[in-house]
Amino acid sequence: LSDRLGGVFDRLTKQGALSEDDVRTALREVRVALLEADVSLPVVRNFVKSVEKKATGAAVTKSVTPGQQVVKIVHDELIEMLTGEGEPGQLRIDQAPAPILMVGLQGSGKTTTTAKLAKRLTERDKKKVLMASLDVNRPAAMEQLEILGKQIGVDTLPIVKGEDPVAIAKRAKTQASLGGYDVYMLDTAGRLHIDQELIAQAAAVRDVANPRETLLVVDGLTGQDAVNVATEFDDKIGVSGVVLTRMDGDGRGGAALSMRAITGKPIKFVGLGEKMDALETFEPERVAGRILGMGDIVALVEKAQHTLEAEQAERMMKRFQKGQFNMNDLKMQLEQMQKMGGMEGMMSMMPGMGKMAKQMDGAGIDDSMLRRQIALINSMTKKERANPALLQASRKKRIAAGSGLEVSELNKLLKMQRQMGDMMKKMGKMGKGGMLKQAMS
Ligand code: GDP
Ligand code: MG
Repeated sequence: LSDRLGGVFDRLTKQGALSEDDVRTALREVRVALLEADVSLPVVRNFVKSVEKKATGAAVTKSVTPGQQVVKIVHDELIEMLTGEGEPGQLRIDQAPAPILMVGLQGSGKTTTTAKLAKRLTERDKKKVLMASLDVNRPAAMEQLEILGKQIGVDTLPIVKGEDPVAIAKRAKTQASLGGYDVYMLDTAGRLHIDQELIAQAAAVRDVANPRETLLVVDGLTGQDAVNVATEFDDKIGVSGVVLTRMDGDGRGGAALSMRAITGKPIKFVGLGEKMDALETFEPERVAGRILGMGDIVALVEKAQHTLEAEQAERMMKRFQKGQFNMNDLKMQLEQMQKMGGMEGMMSMMPGMGKMAKQMDGAGIDDSMLRRQIALINSMTKKERANPALLQASRKKRIAAGSGLEVSELNKLLKMQRQMGDMMKKMGKMGKGGMLKQAMS
């Protein structure tokens, strides 16, 4: 993609706001790239539409081309779509013994992933894990899990020939409780296609085990099929998260995007090979990069980001130099202070500012005060924040009441805003903003 885009983007060199033409030209290429990455057609359509809306009319920063700007918007949108609810890599396994049910088609990588995940839970999370194979269909399937268990040093439920999956699940549950396991994992049988028997079996196991997590394992190389499989499994069994395997292959990871867009399920992990430690937490940034086929695009996007921030800081500084320091600015500073441990903490980081800080009313403000001050600002209207001079008696009363605080505290805040505004003005003039820039970055 980057080569092709590069060509198109070189032609888009007009500065200013992104025109419809700019956006459309760039998005034609993005569309092709997504289809090549095996993203399903309806998802591509929606995605392109949503980027088009965001991009048209967006301001272009000085040192990137309109095309680069579109790439940044595309990249950000991809990440947003790929990011699911909850932390990737985290599982709900607090109540011991927590059952994890592994489902998916045959050959998707269920057994391998079960063992990889058991290893991760044992080593990283210090959990005591029991694995059980419920695959009575395929010869040697149960032995496969047993062998992997030995290899990674994780217990497996002893094999009893002739048992059905529900009976095995029950035995695993009992064994997990008696043996003091934190987690027990049920590796189910798969088939080449979804059929009623497979679903019925998985549902019966689910009803016995009451899993805290039902992880659907899907082959990341199968593209669109993967999504149909996911929808079906989720409808019939209920899926809490997805593991995409074979992400080490040639596939571009388009399945991940389709999966998120259509099922809405969070992708928790990706499989990156056959080895037992080839399981990683799903990272939207990495997959977005892969879908765009980039490398150099990342650098490009970072550059655009950086430029945006620098321009923002510069605009802010110009305002401060002119003595325009409003409540929005103060709020930003207060939030920054919260992060840095109060006013003195912040000022002490700036050369020569320690003394000044002590002379100000805001000196020695602590966390609870910062919270109250921010609450006051939150109770102001947009207009009031932009222009604190509006704040006369009646408005002050309303704001104080709205935040449950005294008018006297609001008066202190106003004084602080004026003092800080003055200080920012002086600082801006002193070092041509150098010091201020540092303080804000
Ligand atoms: P199951 O039928 O769903 O239990 O699938 P298996 O776990 O037996 O895996 C089928 C094959 O896929 C095995 O040869 C695995 O080594 C391989 N496999 C599983 N996960 C991955 C992966 O992330 N990357 C690669 N390259 N191979 C994988
Ligand atoms: Mg298996």
